[in-house]
Amino acid sequence: MKVQSTTTQQDDHFLISDYDYKSTNIEKNGDKYIAKPQITNFKFKTDTRIPKLGVMLVGWGGNNGTTLTGGILANKFNITWNSRRGTHQPNFYGSLTQSSVIKIGTCNTEEVFVPFKDVLPMVNPCDIVFGGWDISSLNLADAMSRAQVVDYDLQQKLRPYLEKLVPLPSIYYPDFIAANQGDRADNVIPGNNKLEHLNIIRKNIADFKQQNNLDKVILLWTANTERFCVEDPNVHGTAEKLMKSIESSHPEISASTIFACAACLEGCSFINGSPQNTIVPGVIELAEKAGVFVAGDDFKTGQTKFKTCLVEYLVGAGIKPKAIISYNHLGNNDGKNLSQESCFKSKERSKKTCVDDILESNKVLYPTEEELNIDHTIVIKYCPETGDSKKAMDEYIAEIFLGGRQTFAVYNVCEDSLLAAPLIMDLLLLCELFERIQFSKDSTEFQRFDTVLSWLSYLMKAPKSESGITTINALSRQRAMLENLVKVCAGLTVDDNLRLEVRYG
Ligand code: NAD
Repeated sequence: MKVQSTTTQQDDHFLISDYDYKSTNIEKNGDKYIAKPQITNFKFKTDTRIPKLGVMLVGWGGNNGTTLTGGILANKFNITWNSRRGTHQPNFYGSLTQSSVIKIGTCNTEEVFVPFKDVLPMVNPCDIVFGGWDISSLNLADAMSRAQVVDYDLQQKLRPYLEKLVPLPSIYYPDFIAANQGDRADNVIPGNNKLEHLNIIRKNIADFKQQNNLDKVILLWTANTERFCVEDPNVHGTAEKLMKSIESSHPEISASTIFACAACLEGCSFINGSPQNTIVPGVIELAEKAGVFVAGDDFKTGQTKFKTCLVEYLVGAGIKPKAIISYNHLGNNDGKNLSQESCFKSKERSKKTCVDDILESNKVLYPTEEELNIDHTIVIKYCPETGDSKKAMDEYIAEIFLGGRQTFAVYNVCEDSLLAAPLIMDLLLLCELFERIQFSKDSTEFQRFDTVLSWLSYLMKAPKSESGITTINALSRQRAMLENLVKVCAGLTVDDNLRLEVRYG
């Protein structure tokens, strides 16, 4: 695709697009709103040179880590495999960047769509170099067998590639994850000195980058869900305080926060795929100083994706959700870890907050704070027989016309890691892309996006936003935000769906 326009310029290194952003400023006058449409000029500058990307996963030997690594290798080497359903070709289904399309315009009256990944230059997932850590020493071939996610025949075909990959020893603070994880922790960095731990992780990152001749590295936490750390401004509040707390091996510094700090200090962006409060204010300040991004929290894969879609539909239709009751049972190691109350609490929080802004937006349905307090219940049970095929059963009860009720009972089988792996890949590819985009408002100097990368909220259950910016959970709005940004950077027109060119030529 090539854009021909007077508002875009391209040379060997950069694509610059000029965009008049139309928004509406609202002023409140008593009980009236005064709406004032306005136009602000933005320029977006995208570095079109594709770097050699390395990714380090924390929890590499887990279900997600092995499924992602194996899945990408299957695609890279075009490995086919057999199951009782026949012969399978590898694909990237479930990946926004690789398998979804974006409308770029109309040809006569036909709408034209291209793959998301083709709108701006992006890293090819098959070119990513993977590395990482795990508290379990199994090589990735054995870890993939343990995970019981991938078809047996594919596991066998991937074995020669995966058995060479062995996770680095990791930091293990037993107090932060479930006690039942202790029996797999045989690959642990010794000692209790948190500063030494930080320095070892930093060295691991630097060595990985140098040994693989990488342009950049991104770190992503896909290890077990930790309990929340007890956040204290004196411990976590600034970069300086956080570093002091690490030096004194403060008990409320989690392993995930050490990894986030190490990433920032090595100039790498950090993504938190679990719900816990890893990205404390001190981490954000470190990231800001290093000019890298942080993004979180918790991958939005099956049940929550659906929830933020269904509730958006109901509220958008003027129907009033009154209760959401979510049961989950799962039998993978994630479920085993979540069977401990402290870890479950982290997950409960991120699963519960995901519809708040959707309800709050509609004051017709929810005129008071009290009414916003709907019955939203989360139950998670560990049932080993279920394996990685998580069952999510949700009942949505909504109030309709004249006091009637509309009830949905949804049964959602989420093959957890087969949904998570492509999503993790998208997070990495998009985070890398955002590192190459700068913007300028009203002809000021070009600058990077905010440190907290809320642009990735489509992929996050509890999206972390820049301070002062409200979080958007509604799935279609999150997707439109990403799609439109990519289009604007490429110099394409943002779609408002009026379709006037088709209706009135
Ligand atoms: P998993 O238990 O299979 O894998 C986690 C891995 O992390 C294990 O191999 C474990 O040994 C390792 N680990 C634990 N503590 C570690 C540490 N301190 N350092 C390095 N490694 C450590 O779990 P999973 O199914 O791969 O999920 C990973 C995370 O992603 C979980 O927190 C889960 O809640 C989150 N998540 C998963 C999904 C999904 O759909 N799969 C969705 C949202 C969030």
